[in-house]
Amino acid sequence: MAAKPFASSADLGVKEQTLEVLADGVYALTAEGDPNLGAIEGEDFLVCFEALATPVAARRWLAKLREHTDKPVRYLVLSHYHAVRVLGASAFDAEVIVSSEQTKHLIEERGQQDWESEYGRMPRLFEEPESIPGLTWPTMTFRDKLTIELGGDRGELVLEFLGRGHTEGDIVAWLPKQEIVFAGDLVESQAALYTGDAFHFDWAAGTLDRVKALGARQLIGGRGAIARGRDQVDAAIEQTRDFLLTMQRTVGEAHRSGGTLKDAFAATHEALAPKYGSWPIFEHCLPFDVQRLWDEFSGIERPVIWTAERDRQVWDELQG
Ligand SMILES: [Zn+2]
Repeated sequence: MAAKPFASSADLGVKEQTLEVLADGVYALTAEGDPNLGAIEGEDFLVCFEALATPVAARRWLAKLREHTDKPVRYLVLSHYHAVRVLGASAFDAEVIVSSEQTKHLIEERGQQDWESEYGRMPRLFEEPESIPGLTWPTMTFRDKLTIELGGDRGELVLEFLGRGHTEGDIVAWLPKQEIVFAGDLVESQAALYTGDAFHFDWAAGTLDRVKALGARQLIGGRGAIARGRDQVDAAIEQTRDFLLTMQRTVGEAHRSGGTLKDAFAATHEALAPKYGSWPIFEHCLPFDVQRLWDEFSGIERPVIWTAERDRQVWDELQG
């Protein structure tokens, strides 16, 4: 049997991007399993959520958004530090780039390595990579919560850190009046989870509970379709939790019984594939996911930094 191509390196198919208007002045872009984006209108400014992997990729989203509004971007909000979400930031000409304090720290600590790792894993998302001017630096950070008044009768946008999850610093963008949440990679709707930098136990318990407790009626996850209505929103959250809990069971059993990382991977693949195997980036993510959870079971508190070299090593061991 031929070896599986590394991560998403052989995924070159173009995905269709769809802009949807979720409420007056609230926009989302989905892209068939590629990273999602959002934008929220204030009275005389825009808040954008996520930035894609390069300025050239971000400009295509902005061109679509500009068919609806020409307000200037005051805030660009980064849900977390991953390269495919942040390196397109310069295209927005934002007055302020906002993230959690933890995300800024992670960019300082591992932003460069993450850039190289993600470029190797998902080259298709890095459209014209030479257009990236460098790492993206947040210019405003907060610890737990930051509220942006949108003006008029638009209500407010609440940026909130709800606990460790997909990374150490993910935030959500919550519109209490419109009952819409942009959840970043904390929730995936019909897309596989990337958990290579995650805190699986915090994420599956308190963090997802707090996302659910917002009571959103529309949820835009990091990838995949928009969840509409409480049933779909809860289903997306519970799908995310089920993925995490299944991993905890299979990796935990292998770890406790003296098995190997490869045993843990095989058991996890077998348990998840029937439900999630056909979803975007499943095969790509799983080796990195299992390695990180294995590390957590081994008592490694913070995720080991992924480098292009470590990516290949883990891939070859588990998927090679
Ligand atoms: Zn991510």
